[in-house]
Amino acid sequence: MTNIAIILLNEKGLETAKRIQSNLDATTIWGLEGRVTGADKTFTQTGEHLRSLYEEGVTLVGIMASGILIRSLAPALNNKREEPPVLAISDDGALVVPLLGGLTGANELALKLASKLEAIPVITASGARHYALQLEAPPSNYVLANKQDAKRVTSDILNGQDVQLDGHCPWLEDSHLPFKNDGDITLRVSVFQEDPPENGLLYHPKSVLVEIEDHDTKPSDIKTALCELGLALPSISAIITNEGGPVQTAKACAKELQVPLRLVDNYTDLQIIRRVKLQTPKKLSLIELKAPPNLDYVGRSVGKLSVVGIGPGSAQWRTPQVRQELEQAEILVGYETYINMLPKRFGQQRLASDNRVELERAREALDLAAKGHHVCVVSSGDPGIFAMASAVIEALDKNPVRWQHIEFNVLPGLSAMQGAASLVGAPLGHDFAVISLSDIRKPFELIEKRLLAAAHSDMVIAIYNPASKTRREQINQMQALLLKEKSAQTIVLLAKDVGRPDEHTKFTTLGELNTDEIDMRTMLIIGSSKTRLIKGPNGKPLMYTPRSYDPT
Ligand code: SAH
Repeated sequence: MTNIAIILLNEKGLETAKRIQSNLDATTIWGLEGRVTGADKTFTQTGEHLRSLYEEGVTLVGIMASGILIRSLAPALNNKREEPPVLAISDDGALVVPLLGGLTGANELALKLASKLEAIPVITASGARHYALQLEAPPSNYVLANKQDAKRVTSDILNGQDVQLDGHCPWLEDSHLPFKNDGDITLRVSVFQEDPPENGLLYHPKSVLVEIEDHDTKPSDIKTALCELGLALPSISAIITNEGGPVQTAKACAKELQVPLRLVDNYTDLQIIRRVKLQTPKKLSLIELKAPPNLDYVGRSVGKLSVVGIGPGSAQWRTPQVRQELEQAEILVGYETYINMLPKRFGQQRLASDNRVELERAREALDLAAKGHHVCVVSSGDPGIFAMASAVIEALDKNPVRWQHIEFNVLPGLSAMQGAASLVGAPLGHDFAVISLSDIRKPFELIEKRLLAAAHSDMVIAIYNPASKTRREQINQMQALLLKEKSAQTIVLLAKDVGRPDEHTKFTTLGELNTDEIDMRTMLIIGSSKTRLIKGPNGKPLMYTPRSYDPT
């Protein structure tokens, strides 16, 4: 479900960009603001923009000098196996250069684009250049058992050795490899546990389904069963069970063996070679298929719901775990302001709603997960702080049976107060209280009580939901109340749109706080008696609360 971003720095490449767009799915043309008109979207900082797309896992097609791409991405380059494809294309569309992501499809994309644009693919990876595949990077439904030999085998083939294919695999069959009946090198495709060929490679097709029938089946029982039939563990395509079967057990086995789980009631569409029913140690069926199946068409998944925190705004303040989840989800559910902060992805549904209907939204998300979808409920900041995680768990609490089979996770994010604090120093360096001023779900008397208690014990106070367009009263009441317990000189930070383009921070004091400046996109950090404002390096003011408490 990866997107493709076509990036343009000037008008010249626009026609090439449009030709690429008409030949590929899920593309967005990004143009540099002020330089390109007619792009789908614009950006201002080239390097930053390229890095953030790269980190989101978006395929990059830069219509620009390869050097610009290389220099821009250099600080972000990390894991060779996880990076998205990055291609440079000349503005006339005559040259297509895959720069990065050889193992994730850059060369294949370059070959495809070159044939559509009638361009020259400038491919330097030998395997991809000569044979239209890379032996070390099989498609995801095959596993190479002896990876360490792939480079040597590729170079032997480049040096003139022939190849014989032992087994069936369209990926290899459709390549330009030099096949011969008694070739020097053997490429074996087999579901069995065996040694790789002496001179060659062994690929396991993921074409075995393991059907679980007993409630107390353990992953070790599956391994024993595979052993009995001589099947290799990587040949497992999925663990399956039927809708009314031992779903939790199957789920635990699938998790432990790191394979997908599918709920399957109907086998008629599967091309089964053999089905072996074992009685011991547990009732298990091993189903060998003719070829690795497309699991999207094998029953349905159990469904997954993750409540994720996207941080206050900036993609840089988003955890890799959350980014990955957002990339993989089929459906995003959340308040539309937050959903709009996330890049659109091809094939991903976005259910944006008003921020008032939280419980309804939580139920809807749970129902979608129970139908087998992978759903992400999106919260700003951290999902557990005045946000959707509680709403979803509240729904689960009210109806524990209805959603019992789904996989459920809460993935943390950076909360607005952490982002705000980091912008100005360390105001939360000592004990602090976090209070929401919204009285939608609690009486204002309780808010007052908590404010007073926090003030009385001289805690720093982080204030969330201080006011909205219509709800103005509480912030004034808060100011008046706190002034009873705290000095009018107490330092107050107003932090608005933290991590977003309109980010703004301002220091004031509790006495001088002008509550008209505060809206629902603002949070406050109200200091303790020890909180100080100092002049930091280069004269930058820093707000901090010392770690040790000297009450004098
Ligand atoms: N889960 C969020 C809080 C949601 S409550 C978190 O952990 O940050 C909504 C309130 O959070 C807003 O009214 C505002 O007070 C604060 N807030 C959220 N994002 C903010 C941001 N980027 N800048 C300033 N305040 C923010």
